[in-house]
Amino acid sequence: MHLKKELLELTGKYVPYMIETRRYLHQHPEVSYKEFETTKFIKAELDKLEISYDSPLETGCVGIIEGAIESEKVIALRADIDALAMSEEGDAKSTFFSKNEGAAHCCGHDAHTANLLGVAKILSELKEHISGKVLLIFQPGEEKLPGGGRLLCETEYLQKHNVNAIYGLHTDPSQSPGKIATKSGPLMGSPDEFEVEIFGKGGHAARPHEAIDPIVMASQFITSAQTIVSRSVDPTDAAVVTIGKIEGGTAHNIIPESVRMLGTVRTLSKSTADTIAERLEAILKGICEGAGGSYSFTFNRGYPVVNNTVEETAQILTSMKALFGEESATELEKPIMAGEDFAFYQEHFPGAFFFAGSGAPESDSQYVWHHPKYNVDDRFFEYAAPLMASLVVDKK
Ligand SMILES: [Zn+2]
Ligand SMILES: [Zn+2]
Repeated sequence: MHLKKELLELTGKYVPYMIETRRYLHQHPEVSYKEFETTKFIKAELDKLEISYDSPLETGCVGIIEGAIESEKVIALRADIDALAMSEEGDAKSTFFSKNEGAAHCCGHDAHTANLLGVAKILSELKEHISGKVLLIFQPGEEKLPGGGRLLCETEYLQKHNVNAIYGLHTDPSQSPGKIATKSGPLMGSPDEFEVEIFGKGGHAARPHEAIDPIVMASQFITSAQTIVSRSVDPTDAAVVTIGKIEGGTAHNIIPESVRMLGTVRTLSKSTADTIAERLEAILKGICEGAGGSYSFTFNRGYPVVNNTVEETAQILTSMKALFGEESATELEKPIMAGEDFAFYQEHFPGAFFFAGSGAPESDSQYVWHHPKYNVDDRFFEYAAPLMASLVVDKK
């Protein structure tokens, strides 16, 4: 690690700015793909730093820092900027409570944005140590399909810049500020969604032989779907099939016409997700045909697996330990099954994603992601910002 002293000094200088910026963004949340004011704010901050930017999508932007050392190297740092379509709970009189009804920064993307703006300030003062270019990706729409990461990759903007490595982070309420965690290989699962409707023939509950009962077909389907993970998926591979909603029928003595179900599939590889989608439909078809009914089935692909490359993961762990000691960085043993659209970038470029501690009891910031009282401890920036900046100056 070089520049440790400079990085920590600059971090100290800009932590108040990041805290203030995050509070401003927290007060002015905008939902996915509608981040118009947020984008204006980010661009104005980049203007102050004389950092040029491009707008490959309608909202969000990509800032470009040119290093003083001539090189082909291009490192991308990504922050997602969108809020959730929900209402915040807590002290409405607090200095940074959401002012936009129905939108709230309850996933910490306000902190990600403020952090990357702080990193922009730090790197602007270290240009003579930066070789090549740094792309600062302020990405819209992480929370909603198809995913801003996917849309940005589809523009081929980053491909044209020949990005060598990309890094991203998420606030983590389960760790205290000063700790980070990541792993190489699969870090986060792929969340897919499916919808099933089973059609039978309605009738009198006492004359089932004249009806085709969709409730019986639905119960067979639910039970059989639970055999997919145990019988069709490699036992060393992780997968989840959950049916989270079922609706059908109106009364105790009527056989309904149809039953509708919603479910989710979580996997760590596309091929496993493909297998599960195929098996779900095959089971459904078998049951419905056997009983004389019919069905509709839709399987909506969510984000791919967040799959960290070995070299970039090692870089994160090494840089963090060099800044804050051996105990500050943990290599996780297992992935988590939540999804992240950072995965789309990793389909094109080497890259790694990590969790940076943001939870502490004294700041009431240990609520899980998407909780209406979600909060980020201010000390998050003291560690996240210098780590992000060091990934640029440390990267060989
Ligand atoms: Zn979220
Ligand atoms: Zn998030």
